[in-house]
Amino acid sequence: MFCVECGAEGPTYQGLCARDFLRKHPVVAPPEVLDIERCSSCGSFRSKSGWSKIDRELALTGLLREAIPKLSPWERVTFTHVARDEDANNLSLTVKALGRFEDLQSVQDFRVRVRIKPSLCDSCQKQRGRYFEGVLQVRGDGRDLTSQEMRAVRTLVSARVDRAGDPAAFISRIEEVHGGLDFYLSTNALGKALARELSESFGGSVSSSPKLFGQKQGREVYRVTSLVRLGAFHIGDVVRHKESLAEVTSVRPFVVLRDLATGESRRFKPKDVRSAKRVDAERFEAKIEHLESGEVVAVHPESEEARPVRPPPKDRTVRAVVVWTQDGAFLSFLPPEASKA
Ligand SMILES: [Zn+2]
Ligand SMILES: [Zn+2]
Repeated sequence: MFCVECGAEGPTYQGLCARDFLRKHPVVAPPEVLDIERCSSCGSFRSKSGWSKIDRELALTGLLREAIPKLSPWERVTFTHVARDEDANNLSLTVKALGRFEDLQSVQDFRVRVRIKPSLCDSCQKQRGRYFEGVLQVRGDGRDLTSQEMRAVRTLVSARVDRAGDPAAFISRIEEVHGGLDFYLSTNALGKALARELSESFGGSVSSSPKLFGQKQGREVYRVTSLVRLGAFHIGDVVRHKESLAEVTSVRPFVVLRDLATGESRRFKPKDVRSAKRVDAERFEAKIEHLESGEVVAVHPESEEARPVRPPPKDRTVRAVVVWTQDGAFLSFLPPEASKA
């Protein structure tokens, strides 16, 4: 037998001498980069067959075997490697791939970068889905939450949890119940902090009730239910309360209504103003004109309609923030943007 490539006499493999055969047949075509997912909660690695709790060396060997196919005609290819950590999630692997064919062996050396992708394994994900300590209940005070409030509350809660970037702080689930929302949270502290933030942003009262529910590593574990009751009104709302038209200038701890016609403010307990009705109104800075008749009018910035201002401004101001309703124009106590919430 002789080699069809170089003519050397001796044993041949698919018509080639051993030297030419090895030269023409690499064992593998290694990629530059390989990715592997690791559960950031329990440390399991993901392979094609699923998640398993194995050590990193074993996971890397499995990864090489799975992700780097042997090239024909090599058989029984095995990998050995030395890993060097570049940082927590990047490794540089020096690999030897050993291929066998008939009585030949070939060793191919190469380097591959391995990126560890933080992830969450199926069982940790399930556990998260069930696990909770704190419960945050958001309700309306004597009423159902409006769909707009539900949206705003959900947005605030998830933004706050995302912003914290703490893997131990998460929302297990959210339920819509009894005209309100229930958030099941990983910690009691998260529930309390969110309750406080919601009542500050939306106005409302907060209460909490701890309940012992078990032991964890020898300490007693409480589930704290934090309840936020959102007040009926927001700062800037214009409401009709017992014949008078008023703007809401504060919502906690008391609701303060400022009578638009007289300019007088009064404070109420939230439950005492439940009967007040919200009124459609605009609030903006308007041009104020002092007419020769002595009347003072506000001019709508878009329609240019003029309406008498109540109560009439004391000085000869030319601009003022007004509340504009079907009943007329009133001097406001609040900045123009206060009506959006
Ligand atoms: Zn040859
Ligand atoms: Zn896990």
